[in-house]
Amino acid sequence: MTEHRATAVAVLGSTNMDLVAYTAVAPRRGETVSGREFRTLPGGKGANQAIAAARAGGAVSMIGAVGDDAFAPRLRAALAEAGVDVEGLRTVPGASGVAHIVVDDEGGNSIVVVPGANGAVTGLAAGDEARIAAADALLMQLELPPEAVLAGARAARAHGVRTVLTPAPARPLSDELLSLVDLLVPNEHEAAALAGTSEPLAAARALLELVPEVVITLGAAGSLYASRTSEPVSVPAVRVRAVDSTAAGDTFVGALAVAAGEGRPMPGAMAWASAAAALSVSRPGASASMPGRAEIDLLHS
Ligand code: ATP
Repeated sequence: MTEHRATAVAVLGSTNMDLVAYTAVAPRRGETVSGREFRTLPGGKGANQAIAAARAGGAVSMIGAVGDDAFAPRLRAALAEAGVDVEGLRTVPGASGVAHIVVDDEGGNSIVVVPGANGAVTGLAAGDEARIAAADALLMQLELPPEAVLAGARAARAHGVRTVLTPAPARPLSDELLSLVDLLVPNEHEAAALAGTSEPLAAARALLELVPEVVITLGAAGSLYASRTSEPVSVPAVRVRAVDSTAAGDTFVGALAVAAGEGRPMPGAMAWASAAAALSVSRPGASASMPGRAEIDLLHS
């Protein structure tokens, strides 16, 4: 990709410590299995998207909260080390958000998220509106309280900033929020939950009744773009050996926002984001697995 002014990205979202157990086969209910390895890795959908966008070359500002516990300094440092501006990351009393994650040998995962400090973000704090106003795009997910997501979307619309919403974890979305979203990026399950149909093309068409542009991510089957003004386009995934799919979607969205902000038209931006996501799937961890710009360019070329 040719060099441009760095895309300015604001992320309003969660910051969690991922507590990851690696095991051959995930336990079923009531079952105990012996795991192979345990790691604590900075994560959270918001922080993941922020780090993905920063590694992909964006100038990124994170808005959210961590607790005042032992995890907080590491969470803050992980964002800062990736080059993310953490001025908008507040410290609130109590526990940081955590995610308990089980990763099996096929690269599949199951996750329990406990929001902690993320739950204290119920609106914008001083300086947050300016952070959003300075961005080319605002990335949001659904791991913060709905009031915060709505406040972010209102601020973005007021300042003409493109709102990109990852509707995860899936929950009903208010009409007002939907009216403020420019690009919705669900995975196939979230798309089905919102659209009421699991067939991707039908789901995309249904979602276009709600928002002007949709990208449905389909795991190893790639992604599907649909807009109110053009024909739907499928973009294949880049083939890799899947090691850990945690944060594939967040890596995709972070890279997509950067590429789109650089003026790359949608199918091309998605292909570049697919290369970024494939790299993240090919190695363990959430933010730890996210590729830099040169690596993405290399796989994409
Ligand atoms: P997660 O919840 O694990 O972060 P997700 O469910 O939000 O992921 P997916 O649809 O699984 O998102 O993946 C997002 C993108 O990542 C896909 O569109 C694809 O480009 C890429 N991807 C995912 N899985 C693979 C894979 N096994 N091989 C190559 N690319 C993949």
